[in-house]
Parts: sequence; C-alpha cells; structure tokens
Amino acid sequence: MSAERYDAVVIGGGPAGSAAAYTLAAAGKTVCLIDKSEFPRDKLCGGGLTFRSKRAFEQVFKRQWKAELINSSQNVSFFSHGRFLASYKGPGKIYFTTRLSFDHYLLSLAQAAGATLKLGNAVGTIDIERQSITLRSGDEVTFSFLIGADGVNSLVAKTLFGRSFDPTTIAFALEAEVPRDRLPQQGDLVEIDFSAARWGYGWVFPKQNSITIGIGGIHRLNPDLRNRLDRYFRRKGLDSREFKVKGQHLPSGDYPVIPGRSNVLLCGDAAGAVDPISGEGIPFAMQTGAAAGMAVATALSRTAGRGALEIYCEDYRNVIAPLRKGKFWRCLIYPRLLERLFAWAFRCEPIRKWILTGD
Ligand SMILES: Cc1cc2nc3c(=O)[nH]c(=O)nc-3n(C[C@H](O)[C@H](O)[C@H](O)COP(=O)(O)OP(=O)(O)OC[C@H]3O[C@@H](n4cnc5c(N)ncnc54)[C@H](O)[C@@H]3O)c2cc1C
Repeated sequence: MSAERYDAVVIGGGPAGSAAAYTLAAAGKTVCLIDKSEFPRDKLCGGGLTFRSKRAFEQVFKRQWKAELINSSQNVSFFSHGRFLASYKGPGKIYFTTRLSFDHYLLSLAQAAGATLKLGNAVGTIDIERQSITLRSGDEVTFSFLIGADGVNSLVAKTLFGRSFDPTTIAFALEAEVPRDRLPQQGDLVEIDFSAARWGYGWVFPKQNSITIGIGGIHRLNPDLRNRLDRYFRRKGLDSREFKVKGQHLPSGDYPVIPGRSNVLLCGDAAGAVDPISGEGIPFAMQTGAAAGMAVATALSRTAGRGALEIYCEDYRNVIAPLRKGKFWRCLIYPRLLERLFAWAFRCEPIRKWILTGD
C-alpha cells in the first residue's frame, strides 16, 4: 500500500496541534493531524483560561469561543500556608473549561477548515530523513514538514534531541476533580495558595460541574508532593484518597532556543511553552501552534525565500517573551528566604495589582 503524502503532518491534537492544523488548512495546505487518542479525550489540566487564552483563541481561530463550554469567575482569594493573604474581585474574568470538551471543539475547527484527522492511532516511528511516519496500525504517512505538538513527553522532541525535557527544571502537578456537592459553599470562588508546593502553588478552580483541586511545583524540590496534596485537601475538609488523583509533568519555562530542526518544528508543551510561574500553557500552545503552521504555509509558498524554521523562530521568540520574564520573576517569588517578603508585598493593593496585571 502506498503512503499518503501531505504538505504537513501534525502529531498531537491538543490546543497546539489543532491551532497548527487549522492554520495550515485555512491557508490551503494539505495537512494530516494524528493523535493516539480518540476524541473527545481528557487531558490532566486545571482548565483555567486567562484573558491571554481568550485573546489567543480569537486571534488563531478568528471567532469568539463557544460560550457553553466556558464558565467564569471574578472572585479570587490568595493564601500562603493556608493563611488568607488577599482577595481580588474583577473587573477581569478568569475562565474555566474542561479539556474533554475544549480540545474536541478546537479539533473540530481544524477538521472543518480541511485538516485530515487520524485519531486513535499512535505514532510508532518517525524517520526524519525519509520524511515518513509509521503509525502503530502499520500505516505510513509522508510529509514535507512535520509539526511536533505531542505534549510534554514529545516523541518528536525525543527523536530530534534525544529527550523531551530537562529533568532538573521540569515541574510536576497532581490534581483531582471534586464533585460540586462536596464543596457546596465554593460557588465561583477561585483559590490560589502560593505555599502549597515549593516553587509552585495550589489551586481550587470552580468548573461548571466539578471543582478542580491541584498542586504543582518544580519536581526535584517536591519529593513529598502527594503529602502536600493531602494537606491541601484537608484544608478544604476533604480526604484526597476519596478522589481519583492524577499527575503529570509540566515543562514550565523549559523551552529550547531553537524549537526544531530543518523541516521539523515543535510547539506547545513539546516546545516547553508553559509559563514558569503559573504553569499556564494553553495560550502559548495555541500561539506557537499557529505560528508553526503559518511558518510552514509561508515556506511552502514559492515566494518565501526562507525556511520554515527560520520564519517560525522569529514568531516563537515573541510568543515566549513573557516566559523569559517569568523565569526572572519566579526567582523573586518562590525562594524560601523571600516567601515572607512576597506575602507582605502581596497584601499591599498597588503591589498586588502590579503583580497580577502588570499595571
Ligand atoms: C495538572 C496540570 C494543570 C494545568 N492547568 C492549566 C491551566 O489551568 N491553564 C493552562 O493554560 N494550562 C494548564 N496546564 C498546562 C496545559 O495543560 C498544557 O500546557 C497544554 O495542554 C499544552 O497543549 P499541547 O497541545 O502542547 O499538548 P497536549 O494538550 O498535551 O496535547 C498533546 C497531544 O498529543 C497526543 N500524543 C502524544 N504522543 C503521541 C504519539 N506518540 N502519537 C500520537 N499522538 C500523541 C496526546 O494524545 C495529546 O492529545 C496544566 C498542566 C497540568 C499537567
């Protein structure tokens, strides 16, 4: 059987992969998106969408997002070691979604734009020289360009660089979904505890039908993360053993200088595009995915005169500029010595506003 050939193959159907496939298909290129899961599929995530995510979605997918997939809050309380620090009430909103529905929605937009989907089919091997991918099913797909949007354990990054992330800088997070009737007083209150984990934090995110409780921080500094999660749950009057706790790495701020090699581009978690302080990754996934897609589409047009990677690197540097700043700021927020100073500063309204909004 002869292999199917595409202008571009995208591996991964999360926000990065869907943004890349949507952008390529909308530019009239042939693109095949491969994901090992059937969709809708879940992905461990707080599902928190900031204004940055909203703006990125609108810029990439050229529409407002489907309101029924999203709930919002303007009501946030901040804690340190369980002690109340301050609260923040609007005007800005924080949005929440479930990745089960949000990612399925983004994927449907990529498909409607013309992307071919191959779901429930993991990539087995990648042969970069031959520009070919063999799926676990045995099918072969060939490409002119390959976009690795396959998440934190990226096979594409491993194929290029021998590993997908640096184990000394990576973060790890644990999370569980709690039914709303177990925390009837929570309402739309969002909670952040800066000391729930070392070089990380704890979160309580109210969703439409459940409440996500989690903690995460730099992996090597939190060997006791499960105990910390248990304590965090106890503060909410809950026993974490009653809920399904799951864990995953977050490549927070662990981005390569050059996100790819020759005709292979990395985006989203596969390119370490996650905020080093907040762990926010969805907007950067959509932005880097779209930038990778656009770079490939431009390189495929005869007038480009530059390679896709060269074009992508320029946009990628702009997208990850806030991550570079975040790497600097987290050295002032998270060290133990500065913890009290940060808590004191955070109680002051003007400083808090500046930290949260940059104004
Ligand atoms: C506990 C936790 C909480 C988080 N909370 C938030 C939050 O509240 N807000 C926020 O903005 N970010 C959050 N993040 C970060 C966010 O989840 C990621 O940054 C985001 O999902 C990255 O998107 P992506 O498309 O790059 O990768 P992913 O969403 O991970 O998608 C990768 C896709 O690739 C597929 N894949 C992988 N390997 C293969 C293979 N070999 N073959 C085929 N398919 C493959 C997978 O099935 C998957 O669908 C959180 C992360 C964690 C771990």
